[in-house]
Amino acid sequence: MQLPRNPTREVKIGSAVIGNANPIAVQSMTATKTSNIDATVAQIHSLEEAGADIVRVAVDNRREAAALIEIRKQTTVPISVDLQENYRLAEVIAPYVNKLRYNPGHLYHHEPEKPWQDKVRFIAEIARDNDCALRVGVNCGSVDPAKLEKYDPADSISPMLESALDHCTFLESIDFTRFCVSLKDSDPAKVVEVNTRFAAQRPDIPLHLGVTEAGMPPDGIIKTRMAFEQLISKGIGDTIRVSLTVPNDRKGEEIEAGRAILKDIAEGRVRTVVDFDLKGLNIISCPSCSRVENEVFVDLAADVKKMTEYAKDHKLTIAVMGCRVNGPGETDDADLGLWCGPNYVNLKKGSESLGRYSYDEILPRLKSELDALIEEQTAQ
Ligand code: SF4
Repeated sequence: MQLPRNPTREVKIGSAVIGNANPIAVQSMTATKTSNIDATVAQIHSLEEAGADIVRVAVDNRREAAALIEIRKQTTVPISVDLQENYRLAEVIAPYVNKLRYNPGHLYHHEPEKPWQDKVRFIAEIARDNDCALRVGVNCGSVDPAKLEKYDPADSISPMLESALDHCTFLESIDFTRFCVSLKDSDPAKVVEVNTRFAAQRPDIPLHLGVTEAGMPPDGIIKTRMAFEQLISKGIGDTIRVSLTVPNDRKGEEIEAGRAILKDIAEGRVRTVVDFDLKGLNIISCPSCSRVENEVFVDLAADVKKMTEYAKDHKLTIAVMGCRVNGPGETDDADLGLWCGPNYVNLKKGSESLGRYSYDEILPRLKSELDALIEEQTAQ
C-alpha cells in the first residue's frame, strides 16, 4: 500500500529529496564525539548500512568543525549538521554538508542583543551559497522565550507552533524555501497535536517527525510508534527519526525501528498502541549525541529505569539528559530530572535545582526524592 502523502514542496538534501511523493527518509544522529573522526566515520557507515538516508552530526566548536571536514571526506551519505548556540559555525561547515539544523530557541544565547531575524538571515544566506537545505528544529524544552511569555504556561503547543510558523514566514520573506520543520516533544500526544496543527496551516512545508527523549527500547519505540502511526497515516511527515537511548554500537536500531514502523503503516498494520500506559512512571531520556558529557550516560539511564521499577504504578515523570546544552531546559517539566556534567549529575525537582552529585551518589539521592514524591502522592 502506498502511504498517503501531503503535497508539500520538495527539499533536496544532497542525494536525498524529501517531501511531496518522495519516500519518507529515515535518519539518525551520531552519538560519538564529533572530534573523534574515526569513531564518527565508523558510526556513520554503520548507520548507512542499517539503511539511514540522512545522518546528523552535532558541531559545537571549530575543533569539531575541522573534524567534520575530515569526516565528510570519508563518507558519502547526506549529512545534516546540528547547530546549537554557535550559529556562526554555519559559515565554516556549510561547504561540506547538505543540511543545517538550527533551533529557534537557541538563537538567543550568542549575541543576545542581535535580533533572531539577523541570525536566521545569516544562516540562510550561508545555506543558499553552499547548496544546503535547512531545518527549523523546534524542541519542547528550548522554545523561544518570547513565545513562552505570550501563552498560558499550561499551553505548551502554541508557543512551539507560533515559533515555527514565524520562522517559516521569515525564511520565505528572504526568498529561502529550501527548508523543513520539526516540532518535537517527549509526549507523543503533543507531537501529534503540534504537527497536525502545523500541517493544517502550512501543508506545503515538509515535516521531520520525532518524539524527543523517547527513552530506551522498547518504550522509546512504542512512544514513537504512537505518534508516527497517527501522523503518517494522515499524510503528515516527510522524514523521520526514532530517538533511542542505546549504546553507540546499537544506534542502527533507530533506523531499523523507523523502517519497521513505516513498513507496518504502509501495510496497514497500524496498531496504535492505546494500551501502552503513559499513566504510570514515565522515564524520558535523550538518545545521546556528541555533546554527552560522560560516557556512562546510557548506563545511568538504564540504571535509573531499573532502580525506579518499584514506582512503575505512580504517575510521575523522570527525565535523564546527557548534557548541559539541552539538559537544564528539557528537565524542567519532569517531576524529577537528571542532567549530566562531566563528573557530576545535576538533580532537579521540576525547575528547582536540588544540587549536583557524583555518579556514585546520584541513584540513592534520586531514590530518596522519588520516595518523598510517592509519599506526597499517597497522602493526597
Ligand atoms: Fe545530545 Fe545533550 Fe540532547 Fe542528549 S540532551 S541528545 S547529549 S544535546
